[in-house]
Amino acid sequence: MGGGSEMVEIRFDKEKCIGALRCGECLRRCPQAVFRSYPENRRRGEICDEWYLAPTYQVLCTGCGICIEHCKPGALSLIC
Ligand code: SF4
Ligand code: SF4
Repeated sequence: MGGGSEMVEIRFDKEKCIGALRCGECLRRCPQAVFRSYPENRRRGEICDEWYLAPTYQVLCTGCGICIEHCKPGALSLIC
């Protein structure tokens, strides 16, 4: 795994993810900074306590598997 030249894609299951604030392991650990978090509620002036995330920069993924290893709910998998 991990040469960077193969086509790899991260599959993200939003239903299984417990959220960026409660977990955020993938955000912190991905060496390629593939994931980004976004507020669920974008109302101006309100503090948002629910953040969702997405593998926004899929193209940077090397398929190292670190995020999958640390995602306890099993929300992430790799499509090769
Ligand atoms: S497999 Fe590696 S590079 Fe790809 S999103 Fe997960 S941690 Fe990042
Ligand atoms: S590691 Fe898994 S559960 Fe945790 S924020 Fe990332 S996708 Fe969600």
